Amino acid sequence: MVETSPPAQLPNPDELWEATLGWSPTEAQQRQFQTLYEAVLAQNRHLNLTRITDPEAFWEKHLWDSLSGPASLELVAGDRAIDIGTGAGLPGLPVAIAYPQVAVTLLEATGKKASALERIVAELAIDNAVPLAGRAEQIGRQAQHREAYSLALLRAVGRTVPCAEYALPLLERGGIAILYRGRWDQAQADAVAAAAKQLGGTVAGIEDWTTPLTQAERHCIYLEKTGRTPARFPRAPGVPAREPL
Ligand code: SAM
Repeated sequence: MVETSPPAQLPNPDELWEATLGWSPTEAQQRQFQTLYEAVLAQNRHLNLTRITDPEAFWEKHLWDSLSGPASLELVAGDRAIDIGTGAGLPGLPVAIAYPQVAVTLLEATGKKASALERIVAELAIDNAVPLAGRAEQIGRQAQHREAYSLALLRAVGRTVPCAEYALPLLERGGIAILYRGRWDQAQADAVAAAAKQLGGTVAGIEDWTTPLTQAERHCIYLEKTGRTPARFPRAPGVPAREPL
């Protein structure tokens, strides 16, 4: 008989959640985080979804990091979020668990990853997260998605300016896109501010963080949708990354 070791348990440092994000999970949410962790690791055996598998690292670099972005926002029932380039469901699934009042669409371009994501969501058995296979450049042109979201999340999907072009067409007026970044500098700030203006948005704020366990540098860039996005955006698949605004 093959012996299997029990799954590693995620830490749940309540006081660290509270001190850093002003929030801590209920016991039910903590169990959902553990289910998410185990489901991601199970899919990771067949597909390269994440290099971060150690429980402490998963807690900090996936769960905590995902939830740092919306921590300063007031999310209300009826809000619709889209996680663009979600991979294994990050940051979208931690956000769906922490904010059950928000409907989260998990957009992923790679077919195999989108299928793995279907299995992860089924394992979690939550009803406010829906996987969607496709590219942001195509989804952003479809009437049921264009200007339909109050929140867009983008982590590790590419450079900042293409991310602005993926996100802003999908946001309704007043909606917010959160771009999760590591390092940040003035040149990137100037470039994204100019691109956002062309796309009907503006830079509403920039937050910087130090991650609570390993003290790594993080930034979240908040873009607000302030007008309409011209019909020519987003451009055809691949163009935003190849020829950034
Ligand atoms: N957001 C996840 C995270 O932080 O772990 C995954 C990051 S992974 C490095 C980037 C993902 O974005 C890939 O799974 C890729 O297929 C997806 N992606 C890249 N460009 C995309 C696009 N234009 N539309 C939708 N998904 C895209």
